[in-house]
Amino acid sequence: MASRAAGSYPAVPEPLAVPGVDTHTHLDICTGARGPLKAGEPAPEVDPSEGEEFPSLDWFRETAFAAGITRIVQIGCEMGAARWTAATVEAEAAAGRDWMLGGAAIHPNEAPRLAAAGLLEESLTEIEQLCAGERMRVVGETGLDYFRTDGDGLAAQEESFRAHIEIAKRLGIALQIHDREAHADVLRILREVGAPERTVFHCFSGDVEMARECAERGYYMSFAGNITFKNADGLRHAAAIVPPELLLSETDAPFLTPVPHRGKPGGPYLTALTIRKLAEVRDTTEEEIARLVTENAGRVFGSWDR
Ligand SMILES: [Zn+2]
Ligand SMILES: [Zn+2]
Repeated sequence: MASRAAGSYPAVPEPLAVPGVDTHTHLDICTGARGPLKAGEPAPEVDPSEGEEFPSLDWFRETAFAAGITRIVQIGCEMGAARWTAATVEAEAAAGRDWMLGGAAIHPNEAPRLAAAGLLEESLTEIEQLCAGERMRVVGETGLDYFRTDGDGLAAQEESFRAHIEIAKRLGIALQIHDREAHADVLRILREVGAPERTVFHCFSGDVEMARECAERGYYMSFAGNITFKNADGLRHAAAIVPPELLLSETDAPFLTPVPHRGKPGGPYLTALTIRKLAEVRDTTEEEIARLVTENAGRVFGSWDR
């Protein structure tokens, strides 16, 4: 992702006929926002470099609306981003813009870094406080990532995942899971401790068998732009069999930009392309998928209306 100025983004696709929803996006990263850090906290892994240009929050809202994406869930998953998210969803709502709800957690790859700094426990306490905000409706993203964390980091990652599950249950809000190459252990831990009532696998990456298991347990499955990737047949087969009442859509922007724009930075507006692909894979209309994911998102995150 060499440049992230507005000019480097893909064009806005034709708008959806029925409004859709992006249930997982990182507008802090998209806008180059640096949330406030406390002494000793590690700098975010995706850190804007000096002088780098980014589109504004207004640009992301306008492009989202232009594509028919009128509701988003902003996710902050390191401490600065978590603070930025809690403040920004409040500020947007106070200004009469009710397009944005929020969620916060310590990302599974971030937990070992905070643990190494001796800050994991107090950070978890703060995540719970931030997630108690009225516009904050999900604890996430948390989970396990065996792709980018290994060795000594794994214990802190699991401790952090278990703590986040408890936070979601105490607050009575949804849980959003990041599961990268860790399907079996994520499912095992959720069974051991008992999953929150509304549990979502963000950027679902399992196969048909995993989708069946999640469906049996009533977990939501949220699909991102990688469902459009050429080599993602397994994922498309999984998306085809998700029960309608458990289906969600997202971007994970600025990452996982859908085909034909793969490799470029993305924004919530590109959820329109993912919704179209879901319609194709499930042999239905984009209107039907847009309606479905909006209804499901309302059940998981509550109302966007103030
Ligand atoms: Zn993730
Ligand atoms: Zn994410």
